Amino acid sequence: MSLERYNRQVLFSAIGEAGQQRICRATAVVAGCGALGTASANALARAGVGHLRIVDRDFVEESNLQRQVLFDEHDCRENLPKAIAAERNLRAINSAIAITGIVTDINPANAEELVKGADVVVDGTDNFETRFLLNDACVKHGIPWVYGGAVGSTGLMMTIIPGQTPCLRCLFETAPPPGMTPTCETAGILGALPGVVGNWQAAEALKICAGRRDAISAKLLSVDLWSGEVQQLNLARARENAACPCCKRRNFEFLEGQSASTTTALCGRNAVQINPRTGATLDLQQLAGRVRATAGISGVTVNRFLLKFSAPGGDSGLEVTVFPDGRAIIKGTSKVADARTAYAKYVGA
Ligand SMILES: [Zn+2]
Repeated sequence: MSLERYNRQVLFSAIGEAGQQRICRATAVVAGCGALGTASANALARAGVGHLRIVDRDFVEESNLQRQVLFDEHDCRENLPKAIAAERNLRAINSAIAITGIVTDINPANAEELVKGADVVVDGTDNFETRFLLNDACVKHGIPWVYGGAVGSTGLMMTIIPGQTPCLRCLFETAPPPGMTPTCETAGILGALPGVVGNWQAAEALKICAGRRDAISAKLLSVDLWSGEVQQLNLARARENAACPCCKRRNFEFLEGQSASTTTALCGRNAVQINPRTGATLDLQQLAGRVRATAGISGVTVNRFLLKFSAPGGDSGLEVTVFPDGRAIIKGTSKVADARTAYAKYVGA
């Protein structure tokens, strides 16, 4: 394989030719492809990571463009799922690597399959429940992963090597309850911040892909891009001191999550997501035909990846988006019951 296009990275002596060859054979999973995920996927694709698996449940909207660097107005107009838009746009950047976009919600039933065979997983999720689930799946299978978070002007980053460095549950016993942590929707976010954190995560992931685990930062890094303050929390003893249920006792409570909710209010977005208990395969064209014939429905659009339409309900109407696996996002309400009603009415439960 020609390494010519990666010449500047090969010249960087900490990677070199041997490191680049390992990068070209590596598999990385970008879990969640919003602000952090687009930044890290962009860096990993350009760096030549051989196999990129990009997982995301959402679709591109105009308000994403302020910070989600892989998307453009064209992707919005096409109503593309983020995983598909990312796959397409990354292919135009590097056609020499394999890129797979997967449109799905990461849940206890599919988490292990999604990270299977990966050399590293990069966290691009926007909530702690999914991060704890990823932590369980990665620790169980000994896969390094790079935690990242960004809200307001503050970003956090930490690399986890299972069995060697503290895992997420060594630091936090459990996920904070819903509504207790600020989100990008409630607190806003400085557009340049996820670029910094996502690229920082990508650099850590590249060290792992290049076989340079010795070079990872075993610290919790925090940056405030507004004040310019950077802090490092030394975690050297955190694993020894913690009676961690995950990496010490190997109780994978989030992965076993029988209690996993099938309906999630998407915090601050006035939307509810519905996950069918079992995987389904919907014929969206057929469903579109049915929906068009329903009274009160307008603006039905359908493509291979999703079906979208407006329906009466909520305070001022609902916008329903249905994916081929039966999952739906219902905007215009934060009430689970409203969303379930609309789902049952138009999709069928
Ligand atoms: Zn742990």
